[in-house]
Amino acid sequence: MAKQTNDGIARRIQEMAERVKAVQEQELYFYLQAAEAWDGAHVTVNGRRMLQFASYGYLGLLGHPKINAAAKKAINDFSSGTHGVRILAGTTLLHEELEAKIASFKGTEASIVLSSGYVTNLATVSTLISKGDVVISDKLNHASIVDGCLLSRAKFARFRHNDMADLERVLERYASAASKLVVVDAVFSMDGDIVNLPDIVALCRQHGAWLMVDEAHSLGVLGETGRGIEEHFGIEGAIDIKMGTLSKTIPSVGGYIAGDAELVSCLKHAARAFVFSAALPPAQVAAAKASFEVIEEEPWHVQRLQRNVEFFLDGLKTRGFNTMNSQTPIVPIITGDDARAMQMVKMCQEAGIFVLYVLHPAVPLGTSRLRVNVTAAHTQKEIAQALDIIERIGQVVGVI
Ligand SMILES: *Cc1c(COP(=O)(O)O)cnc(C)c1O
Repeated sequence: MAKQTNDGIARRIQEMAERVKAVQEQELYFYLQAAEAWDGAHVTVNGRRMLQFASYGYLGLLGHPKINAAAKKAINDFSSGTHGVRILAGTTLLHEELEAKIASFKGTEASIVLSSGYVTNLATVSTLISKGDVVISDKLNHASIVDGCLLSRAKFARFRHNDMADLERVLERYASAASKLVVVDAVFSMDGDIVNLPDIVALCRQHGAWLMVDEAHSLGVLGETGRGIEEHFGIEGAIDIKMGTLSKTIPSVGGYIAGDAELVSCLKHAARAFVFSAALPPAQVAAAKASFEVIEEEPWHVQRLQRNVEFFLDGLKTRGFNTMNSQTPIVPIITGDDARAMQMVKMCQEAGIFVLYVLHPAVPLGTSRLRVNVTAAHTQKEIAQALDIIERIGQVVGVI
């Protein structure tokens, strides 16, 4: 049967194809570039070796010999796959060891790992809350949290970004909800600013709300020993549901929830993404566990990252760039419009700095940007070199 002329699926596919083609024709398309190789802080794309400034590997642990060795040993011992879902035949000793390690690192009774950070947020939010409840989310929370809220069928309320007065208003408005869950990112993934955890904890306690915090960008990044947002503020044990990913600072894949044993047990038996989706492969599990050990045994990675963040942010501000309220390795360089963001990325890559842009509607209109990530893999010399290149290009393009 012929498809209808107003077929919505065909129209959506066609519209996207046209948008992509338009950017590609201007030679300003930089998504999906395949890395041919990487070494240390460098990446090679299309034969060009560039300094990597777009990585989420905040502590520079990709390729760490202990982590690579753990992954290889796990393949030798347990093969490349599993026998299915965790709750049936998929659990290995390695999964148990990783969950114990995460719990001890985060100072909780237990933890559960799922197949990605995205899936962890989706599964946790949608399992814990339901009709009659309210889930309250910061407006700049990650898409995976938003999707979990939408899937839950609870009332989905949002408050203005990091605005405590607005959070309080929302909590008061839903005072009669059966239960309340407040969810926030610890570090916001577009702006690099840090959530006001102490005030949120106080508000949640005052209003009898549960608190869940996504530590995708704070694990290994914040706190003297890299334990994250609670260590940063010196309020250990303040968060009910601690979420994180194993794909950023931790050079593996997966997501976790750390918390009380009964919370974790509830997720292990009721979260559909855990019960109906295969276990993480042994190599990734072993790599993740070894990564937590490396963070504990080699404290200099965290120290070096924190020094690099300060050096890079200071350097950009001194040169007149607008980096919003970033205090972390996620550094927005605001260009204002899309055209200048695209032009800066093109010129930076030609000059040997691998950075990428974030455009509207991923960020509010007028705040198009380069999103630059500094890591512990960079030497101060490499950062200084990048600063000089970004300054020169910023002047040419008219951002500073
Ligand atoms: C990256 C990210 C996730 C998703 O993690 P993955 O492991 O990549 O699926 C969740 N939350 C935040 C804030 C993130 O930045």
